[in-house]
Amino acid sequence: MAGIYCHIPFCKRACHYCNFYFSTSVGAKNDIVAALLKEMTIQRDYLEGEIVDTVYFGGGTPSILPAGQLSEILAAARTVFHVSQHAEITLECNPDDVHSQSLNAWNEIGINRLSLGLQSFFDDDLRWMNRSHSANQALESIRVVRAHGFDNFSVDLIYGFQLLTQSKWKENVMKVLELGIPHVSCYGMTIEPNTALARLIARGAAEDIDQSVQAEQFLLLMKWMKDAGFEHYEISNFAMPGFRSRHNSSYWQGKKYLGLGPSAHSYNGKTRQWNVSNNSLYTSGLRNGILNFESENLSPTQRINEYIMTSLRTIEGCELDVISNNFGDAIAAILEKATRKYIPDSLVRIGSRLVLNDQGKLFADDIASSLFFETLA
Ligand code: SF4
Repeated sequence: MAGIYCHIPFCKRACHYCNFYFSTSVGAKNDIVAALLKEMTIQRDYLEGEIVDTVYFGGGTPSILPAGQLSEILAAARTVFHVSQHAEITLECNPDDVHSQSLNAWNEIGINRLSLGLQSFFDDDLRWMNRSHSANQALESIRVVRAHGFDNFSVDLIYGFQLLTQSKWKENVMKVLELGIPHVSCYGMTIEPNTALARLIARGAAEDIDQSVQAEQFLLLMKWMKDAGFEHYEISNFAMPGFRSRHNSSYWQGKKYLGLGPSAHSYNGKTRQWNVSNNSLYTSGLRNGILNFESENLSPTQRINEYIMTSLRTIEGCELDVISNNFGDAIAAILEKATRKYIPDSLVRIGSRLVLNDQGKLFADDIASSLFFETLA
């Protein structure tokens, strides 16, 4: 089973914290769609005939595209690849794009999962982030999503940012629980280089992130979600049983995926490649039948380190059998031994898998990188 990711590189406005690749001039929509279709034909063999179990429209803001263009992309994917009849087809959307007309159209073209970029239920937070929607639109979007029969949907929330007090954080999470939302992705605010937020902090117009407040909000989040019956199946993701994101899970399980569109990444088990992060270079190349991308062959060291990094973020953890089967028993034994140093502080559990405890999840990236192999013979 494999996945397809389509990157739609347009947003109405730039959120102050965002460093994804997107453009706020949406004039090139038609060119991007035409180029995506061309890229599919060039990349038709990338997934080596595997069944495509998930299609994910991300960005940027894919809900900006008219449903007709989303439909055109899906139809082409179904023609070029072996897309399963039961594929999970997700659309990331902003609450201000979610209304009866768009939902009916998305339903009709086969979108069966929505991911809503809510971020907060407070207007002052949303204004501070420079989001294009209001708190009322966030609430209304959830109501209409349900009313149009989309039971499988997710919302994004951000925690650990300068305006978010503990009581506001609690209200945001409780609102999600009260509304019975089946999947939530929660991200700690990070200050990415070359973002408006980084510049505001650099010139003293905004405070830096308080890491201790962020950590406390993450710990509270884990407790509240667990008490409410959610599976914390990946560091940033919580799902009610049966509502995990199949697409994102396939990344963490190391399945193949093809990324289409500017800046999109692809992975086939042996190599990783990424398209140029520039709309006009992407479209002009494809007009001439050329896909502008870079790629790298993954060495055994890169593959094991990637597995350690991604698997430790998941509820299943890092399976020692997977390490043994792919890299040998001796390597699995070295990894197991190296992980033992985190037992006294109750950061990990070790059995047939290495699994982070809640405290360990606060340091997931540091723990994973401390376990990386320098070179694998
Ligand atoms: S809508 Fe999403 S992709 Fe666009 S600027 Fe905001 S966070 Fe970034």
